[in-house]
This record gives sequence, structure tokens and C-alpha cells, in this order.
Amino acid sequence: MSVYHVIYNPNSGLRKTARSADAVRHILEAHGDEAIFYPTEREGHCTEIVRDINTKYEAARVIIIGGDGTFSEALNGVVDFDKITFGLVPCGTGNDFAKKMKIPSCTRRAMKRILAGNVRLLDHLDLGGKRCLNVCGLGMDVDVLVKYASMKHFKGKIKYYLSLFYVLTHFKPHRVRYKIGDVEGEQEVFMVGVCNGSYIGGGMALAPDNAVDDGTLELVVIDNIKKPMIPIRLVPFLLGRMNKQSCTHTFRGTEAEVEIIGEEPARVQVDGEVIEMPKLQVKVVPKKLRMFL
Ligand SMILES: [Mg+2]
Repeated sequence: MSVYHVIYNPNSGLRKTARSADAVRHILEAHGDEAIFYPTEREGHCTEIVRDINTKYEAARVIIIGGDGTFSEALNGVVDFDKITFGLVPCGTGNDFAKKMKIPSCTRRAMKRILAGNVRLLDHLDLGGKRCLNVCGLGMDVDVLVKYASMKHFKGKIKYYLSLFYVLTHFKPHRVRYKIGDVEGEQEVFMVGVCNGSYIGGGMALAPDNAVDDGTLELVVIDNIKKPMIPIRLVPFLLGRMNKQSCTHTFRGTEAEVEIIGEEPARVQVDGEVIEMPKLQVKVVPKKLRMFL
């Protein structure tokens, strides 16, 4: 018998989360395991819960029912990586990391993988006090997240596409200075991503060839796209082939720096969370994160 700590957000607005939590309860009972449930009550609560569990238990098994944002909160609560192993049951609006790790979206199948007990060690990104699981960056994706948060009357995918459409039709380029290894540059960009994972915005491939356990990150710089060209460029983007375009430049390394020039407030996104920060200083932390996969 094992003890599983299950963290989920009952107020996620998605009925699927509550249903998924019920299913996880039944599956663990049937498997003869003990389950302790932790519903989150506010943003950042998942980080606190993980910190408590990690401090209290020697070898904790933690199941996150949620999307990339919730898992990212969990990652930020880790005190001792050697004493905690995560399982992810994808449930949320952004499941880009789950897609990268090929975790089934069906709760029963995701749980089957967790209960098989195979542990993989994964990389994550350290931003100096903040950790990133999937992708951090700036530009168009941040503009979309800001617009998305300001729209009150829509929900889900429609809301995402409306935000995307608005941003693309009103797009202003961002100027950045970047550095990775011996490579340095300054230019106007459409967006920049520092990637541990591969996908953003619900499956758009930014760094599809990136591995999550090779001790490297990928810096992806997409040149500013002239407005009349946006609809044309958008097609490969939505089809997940942005990485194959001539306006996309990919660099691999272990550390990267991206500075936003001449913007107030300067905003970046870290796993979908928008933060005011004029400069991203990122380094990869190899193979610390333990995950049932
Ligand atoms: Mg890598």
C-alpha cells in the first residue's frame, strides 16, 4: 500500500476536474492505496501544499490533477527534489507539458501510468527564485494572455482564439536583447520562448525537437512579422510548424538571457503566468524533477 497526495482545484470552472478527482479516488481505493485529497482554495495554494507535503514526508507521491499552470505551481513548492515524485492527471485549459510527455488525457489511463511506478528524472528551468516547467518567454504569447485575462464574457478555446485574433490584428513588435552561449543579438521580435518543453498555447510547436531530460534548454526567437504577413505566417503557427519557418531561429544551450528593451511595464510569461520582469535569466536544472511516467 502506498500513500498518494492528490492536489486539485475544485473551482477550476471545469466540471472535468471534480469528475477526475472522483475517478482518482476510486482508482486508488481499488488499487489498495491510501489517498489524501488537497483541494486548492486560491492561486499559489498548490505551491504551499507541495511545500508542506515535501517538508513533512520522506518520500511523497503527489498526484496533480490540473493543467500546466497547476503543475508549475507544484514545481515551485518543492523543497527537496529527492523526496518527492509527481504524477500528472491532465485536466485544464493548457496541457502542453502533458502533450510533450505523452500523458493520456483520459484519467483512467493517466492513473494506470502513475501506478505502474516508473520514475523518470526531468529537467526544469530556474529563473532565479522562480521555476519553469514548460516554456517562459515574451511577446505575442504574453499579449494574448493579457488580453485573455481582460475578456470577461467568453470562455475556453473561443476566448483564446478571440484573444489571439485581437492581438494579431493590433500587434506591436517587442524589442529584445538576447544571449545564449556565444550567441548575442538585439532585434524586434514577434515572440521569444525559452523552452524546457515543446508546445505552447494548446499544442503549437515551438521547440518540438527539444528533449526534457538532456540537460539543455532551447531559445526560440521569432522575428517580427510585418502585419500584412501575419495571416500567412499564422497558418504554420496554428499547424504547429513555426519551427520550420525562416523567421524562426532556434539556439540550444544551458543558460539563456532575454532582456526587454524600452517597455513599461515589461512583461514575461512563465508557464502561462504573466509576471512583470524586464529580464529573463534562465538556466536549466538537469534531471532533478522526479515524475511517474
Ligand atoms: Mg532540453
